[in-house]
Formats: sequence, C-alpha cells, structure tokens
Amino acid sequence: MTQLERAREGKITPEMAAVAQAEKRSPDFIQAGIAAGRIVIPVNPGHKSSVPLGIGAGLRTKVNANLGTSTDRADAEEEIAKARTAVEAGADAIMDLSTAGELSGLRKKLLEAFPQPLGTVPIYEAAVKAVRRAQAITAMTPEDMLAAVREQAEQGVDFMTIHAGVTQESVARLRSQGRVMDIVSRGGAFLASWMIYHKEENPYYMQYDAVLEICREHDVTISLGDGLRPGCLEDATDRAQVQELILLGEMAARARQAGVQVMIEGPGHVPLDQIQANMILEKQLCQGAPFYVLGPLVTDVAAGYDHITCAIGGAAAAAAGADFLCYVTPSEHLRLPTVDDVREGVIATRIAAHAGDIAKGLPGALDWDRKMARARKALDWEKQIELGIAPGRAREMREGAKPKQPEVCTMCGEFCAVKGIEEYLKDEKNN
Ligand code: SF4
Repeated sequence: MTQLERAREGKITPEMAAVAQAEKRSPDFIQAGIAAGRIVIPVNPGHKSSVPLGIGAGLRTKVNANLGTSTDRADAEEEIAKARTAVEAGADAIMDLSTAGELSGLRKKLLEAFPQPLGTVPIYEAAVKAVRRAQAITAMTPEDMLAAVREQAEQGVDFMTIHAGVTQESVARLRSQGRVMDIVSRGGAFLASWMIYHKEENPYYMQYDAVLEICREHDVTISLGDGLRPGCLEDATDRAQVQELILLGEMAARARQAGVQVMIEGPGHVPLDQIQANMILEKQLCQGAPFYVLGPLVTDVAAGYDHITCAIGGAAAAAAGADFLCYVTPSEHLRLPTVDDVREGVIATRIAAHAGDIAKGLPGALDWDRKMARARKALDWEKQIELGIAPGRAREMREGAKPKQPEVCTMCGEFCAVKGIEEYLKDEKNN
C-alpha cells in the first residue's frame, strides 16, 4: 500500500512519523495532509537507503537539484560529484536528467549513494533508447514509454516527471494562439514532436491508468510535468499553460483516486507580478497538490546569473504557497552546469526557500534568523559563520580580510556601528 492509501485509512507509517519529527509537526498533521493530497512523501521502498522527506502545505519549502549527463558531456563520476555537492550544500532532493552514457548504471549509483529522494523523467530514457536503436526520437513506441516508467520504478526511483498533460489539444492551442518560445520543456518537446509526427495522442495521457498502476505498486510519487511551461515572460500565464494546468488538476484527482501520491510541476519564466496568481491557480485547480516550480525566473535577460532570477522568483513563489523549488544554476540556458554551478544554484534556491518560509509564517522559520541577529549583535564571528547558510563561503570572506581590531570587520573598521553604539548604551546604563 502507498503512503496515501495508508494515510486514508488513518494509519501513521514510520515514514510519516519521521517526517513529523523532522518538520516539528504532529504525526496527525502529516497523515491528514497526505490523506488530503496536500503533502507527499516520495519514498519508493526499492530505494533502500532513503530517508523520508515531506513536501507540501505546512512544511518547510524543499529544494531540488537537477543533474545528469548530456550527449555533449557524459561523465557519470562528475554527475555523482554534482549530487554530492548539491546534498552538501543542502539540497533536499535530486533529479537525474541524464540523456547519455549508461543511464541505468548512474541511477543505481545515485540510489545507493544518496538517501535523498531521487527523481527522473522516464521519457528521456525512452527517447535515448529510440535514438540508439533507430536514430529518431519518433521511433519511441508507447510501450517504450511505459517500459521506462516500469524499469525506473522497479529500480527504486522515488518521484517521476510524467508529461501526461501535453495533448493534441495543447498542440492545437499552441498553434492557434502563437507563442514566442513554443515548448521549452525537453520532455514536453519529445512528446509533442512524437504526437505531431505520428498524428496520435500523447501515450502517457492514453496509458495514464497503466502509469498509475506501476506508480501505485512501487509508491512512486507522480510529478505531473508542465510540458507547456512558459520559456519567456511573454508566454507566461497564457492559454496553453493554463489549459494544461486544468488538465493536470484532473489527472491529479485520478492519481489520488488510484492511491498514487502526486505533485504538480510549474513554471518557468514568469513576471514577478504574475507569480502569486500562478500559485493560486495551481492550488485551486489541483486541489491543493504540492506545487513544484522551476524558478520561476522573473526576467529573461540574466544569462550567467539565472540562479539569482530563480531565487527572486522562488522566494515570491514560496511566499505565495509553492512547496518545492527546483534550483537553477548560473549556467542555465548556457551549458551543462559544473560542480561549482551546482553549489551556487543550491545555495541561491535555499535562500529563496527560507525567505519564503518566513513569509509563509512557518512555525520556527524565523528562529534561525533570530540566532544570527544575536550573534551579529555580540560580534561573535564563529557563531555567525556557523549559522550562515554557506559557512565555507562566510569563513573564506572573513578570514580573507583580517580587520585591525579583531572584534569588528573591515567594512567599517574602528567606526563599527554595532560596537560603538553598544559601548555608548552600556556607559549610559552604568551612569
Ligand atoms: S564593522 Fe561595520 S559591517 Fe562590520 S560588524 Fe561592525 S557595523 Fe557591521
């Protein structure tokens, strides 16, 4: 039975209890959230080393880091190093988006080495196999697409992006309304290309019951992919995106009915003033399902700094209800990320998630900031470094610029405001 089925029966599983403890919530809160579809615990029993992670309403906003090989750079060891860096920097989950090399072997290593939930996009594997076999993505068969889901579920993958909402209607809408960037989701583009070529409906849409059956058997959480997510600000919140979201809401309801945990993926490139509306739409149309957003990126022009555009959008999205933020690295739109890019991306997105949690009023979220403020006030540099979101970077900066007076920093030196006012206030008190 899946976590959802057990929650519906009123049972509290060891995974729910572990999430409750980690989130400082009651087990009943977690169980009720899962039963209602507002919380998921992506935990495939086949992922032997996994540590349960709760994602959803009333919980800390989580951060995902993507990694994976490409046809231009396929070094499995480098991808494992990225996963390690991401986890050390505080990523809560990782997704393997590999499209080259030994796909199954890399997944196995990731599942063995990391207890964090592992996510995948099975259509990638079906497409890679079709290209290897017949030099064309369109050579994929509906059976190949289902086989990829089955193989990965059996291997222990905890959550999977399934682009079941890209339909012939979406393609027609895309054509009729016109879009600047058309489709920027890789999985969405694979499926739409296949559908246009074969003049057939999306196999994941047509075989959704079979997908649900596999996911139920292995308790794989479905992450309903947004194949039509906007790839630039001009395309944001358009009819194609919203039509897909309506369909995803219906498919989320079907997943829950089948006992399968489900979350919804979201945009993409969205102007800052449209982010809140996007969060409300998802929560309303998808019955409160956890919302997993890529960014959103709030401007299209920040090539080289898109981890910052992502953090701005991510903070606004989390504050407005997003539950799970997919990081973006500085190399977004430019190249496959390096290990350093991964670290920068995770830290930026963790800042966004924490800022969102404070704005959400998540119990205890502000405690971290309170401790930091007191360490600053006390000019306790060791404590400040220890409490920092990236202690290594903080130490490097502090130790790279030694002040003449060790209790202050080189920013103001002898005119340190914190030290100066403290001395005057103390003198006043003593007099
Ligand atoms: S020297 Fe300036 S920046 Fe540094 S701790 Fe004092 S007030 Fe803050």
